[in-house]
Amino acid sequence: MPALPLLAWGLTKRENDGREPPVDMRPRLRCAAPKDSSLMVSLDLAAPAAPAKPAFELSEKPSLIGLSREELGRALVEKGVAERQVKMRVSQIWHWLYIRGISDFNDMTNVAKDLRALLKEHFTIQRPEIAEEQISNDGTRKWLLRFPARGAGRPVEVETVYIPEEGRGTLCISSQVGCTLTCSFCHTGTQRLVRNLTAEEILSQLLLARDRLGDFPDRETPQGAILPSSERKITNIVMMGMGEPLYNFEEVKKALLIATDGDGLSLSKRRVTLSTSGVVPEIYRTGDEIGVMLAISLHAVRDELRDMLVPINKKYPLKDLIEACRNYPGLSNARRITFEYVMLKDVNDSLEDAKGLIQLLKGVPAKINLIPFNPWPGTKYECSDWDRIERFSEIVFRAGYASPVRTPRGRDILAACGQLKSESERMRKTERMAFEAMMIAGHGEDDDD
Ligand code: SAH
Ligand code: SF4
Repeated sequence: MPALPLLAWGLTKRENDGREPPVDMRPRLRCAAPKDSSLMVSLDLAAPAAPAKPAFELSEKPSLIGLSREELGRALVEKGVAERQVKMRVSQIWHWLYIRGISDFNDMTNVAKDLRALLKEHFTIQRPEIAEEQISNDGTRKWLLRFPARGAGRPVEVETVYIPEEGRGTLCISSQVGCTLTCSFCHTGTQRLVRNLTAEEILSQLLLARDRLGDFPDRETPQGAILPSSERKITNIVMMGMGEPLYNFEEVKKALLIATDGDGLSLSKRRVTLSTSGVVPEIYRTGDEIGVMLAISLHAVRDELRDMLVPINKKYPLKDLIEACRNYPGLSNARRITFEYVMLKDVNDSLEDAKGLIQLLKGVPAKINLIPFNPWPGTKYECSDWDRIERFSEIVFRAGYASPVRTPRGRDILAACGQLKSESERMRKTERMAFEAMMIAGHGEDDDD
């Protein structure tokens, strides 16, 4: 399958309309860039796609988005909807929220006016505020979304990234603001956890992206937009934004079950990939309770090294991790686990490491994504040299794994490892940061690749 180099962005500073400043976590998303990533040199991320929307009040009312059908039913009963009507009302509301994608109760045209008024009085279905929207000229879109404070906290901002390709559109979603884990090569790992995102906030990233792409029935797609040829503009989701999704298991589960609900947003579970650093007990639960595709941030094949790079390894060492992967339900040649492996110069990139990788994954239906390290200010790591990445990938390839960095796109990836010369020097810092990170994806089942 074609590989998708994943991008990370630094954020530009924004004006903040005088309110209490949101927590600026400077999220670093690693999201896939389009197939022709030679276009990456012409990213124009500094230019907002749309004039900044006027600030609006984020509703303090509880949202109906992200509730399971049962929770939605209970919420309606609590506000006085008759028990005998609940089932019907739930399916009406579900249809409006997740098939039609509305965000205003007035649009629920087959719901009686008095019920609409009741809903409006007690609940919200508002989208988050778009603090910033950027569109690169290769069609990649990035939204900085602002969510209201929860409890005593401050508003928070998270990034969501959309990457169109020929026959698919992938949305990269965040699960937390910050991360409690401290993977030593990861910028997010240097930031404390601010809070978990709620199911509503996780799902809102998808709903908002579909709004902006005109990806609901009867909506216009934006003029001149680069979009996939598929009927649906978002065909795949990767939980690869900020945070460790399995440390926010319940909310992630709720959101993904709604995203894959056949009577609603209807994404195929085979096109949803959750990436984890290796929270072993929750890997079992992910298989049993969510059933989406899995990606593992492996990055080392020896415990001693992985303890340093991905410290959760001290709790769940490689043996337990690989065992959990081996037992992941539904694996086959067409449904493989993705193993992410960041290429760190002189740290984990020896040819012995490559052989160790093959050895470790024996018997596990696996894809391997070699990720050129994306440097960030203050990091002690460097990206492996290009010829080392090639040799590493050659070993992986010969062992029968598609090895994405072998494609000509590697040149662009090389650029992303901080070696992009003339083009990057002409770019402003914030734009250059768009090249900071690259990783190779290839998510979802094989037959859509
Ligand atoms: N917390 C989850 C998901 C988010 S990170 C996880 O760790 O899997 C998505 C991927 O980007 C992970 O594989 C992560 O290890 C990788 N990554 C983090 N920092 C990176 C960097 N500086 N360069 C390249 N890849 C990085
Ligand atoms: Fe970064 Fe993922 Fe590690 Fe968190 S778990 S520090 S997001 S790589």
